[in-house]
Amino acid sequence: MVVAGVLALQGDFEAHARILRRAGAEAIEVRTAADLDAAGGLIIPGGESTTMLKLLREEGLFEALREFGGTRPIFGTCAGAILLARHVTAPAQESLGLMDMDVERNAYGRQLDSRIVTIAAPGLDGGQIEAVFIRAPIIRRAGPEVHVLGRYGGNPVLVEQGRHMAATFHPELTGDLRVHRFFLDKVEENAAQTRPVSVHR
Ligand code: GLN
Repeated sequence: MVVAGVLALQGDFEAHARILRRAGAEAIEVRTAADLDAAGGLIIPGGESTTMLKLLREEGLFEALREFGGTRPIFGTCAGAILLARHVTAPAQESLGLMDMDVERNAYGRQLDSRIVTIAAPGLDGGQIEAVFIRAPIIRRAGPEVHVLGRYGGNPVLVEQGRHMAATFHPELTGDLRVHRFFLDKVEENAAQTRPVSVHR
């Protein structure tokens, strides 16, 4: 069974864990660096990225997550996407820099303060998905290695880069399993690639 961690310091981690279980994975809550050992991949949930950053530092998890992301998939949603980005503005803050994209926080303004819309998601089966935005960031720049899976209003809102993924919306809130399944496929694929193979002579 695929084992996926959900960073459980702050924010919407319980809803992610429920969706992961419904999608057939084992979900574990991650609060310390040691909790990461069992996880084949990790979801960083939505919440408040400044608070999460502070807690990551306090738990000694900031560097541990960077290292984890060097070999295993991370999926950041909303605040989690902010933490994965290379550059963060409005205001500027430190981030893990695991995905080559720049994000601006709270950039949709009151218009998208909390809203559910249908977005074009050519990267997912079905081609579109209901997306819940809550004080969402905008991905202002996506580097050449970043593949856009979904867009809203001309901006990328669901992206992948190699083993990592980010959504500026909350895929854990609609009961649609497709986004989480997409991530779990990455976790499975990554585990298969990195599993040590025995050498026979
Ligand atoms: N606005 C929040 C932040 O900047 C993110 C909002 C969310 O995760 N729903 O951290």
